[in-house]
Amino acid sequence: MNKKCPFCNINKVKTRIIENGNHCFVILSNPRLMPGHLLIIPKRHVEKLSELSNSELADLLKFTVKYQEKIIKNIASGCDVRQNYRPFIKDGKLKVAHLHFHLQPRWPDVSDELFTKCQKYEIELFKPLTDDEKADIEKLLEK
Ligand SMILES: [Zn+2]
Repeated sequence: MNKKCPFCNINKVKTRIIENGNHCFVILSNPRLMPGHLLIIPKRHVEKLSELSNSELADLLKFTVKYQEKIIKNIASGCDVRQNYRPFIKDGKLKVAHLHFHLQPRWPDVSDELFTKCQKYEIELFKPLTDDEKADIEKLLEK
């Protein structure tokens, strides 16, 4: 438990806890930006996936699969799963070091403002690596 961490010190009255499991819990987050955006959070304060026990990993994945299916069935046409590990960014309003998965509902139309704007930049920024660059990356991943 980290005294300054918002996920270790979750306000159980203000936070919409959707499900509380043995090792993880699910909360509703950012409903204005992405209605149905959920966070799956391990109860124990860890920052990297490699720090989770097998039962914590199993719980995290179980909830991720369960709620991705619920979002696709009941809320949106798609759903991204995202986990950020960015120790080089200071904790703040938009960054919490306590590991968590984002389930982000996605719609193919312009009502999904965040997706539409991000997609524009992704398309502009995406350039394939050369064969030499790919080989260099593969070598790094073999270590
Ligand atoms: Zn924490």
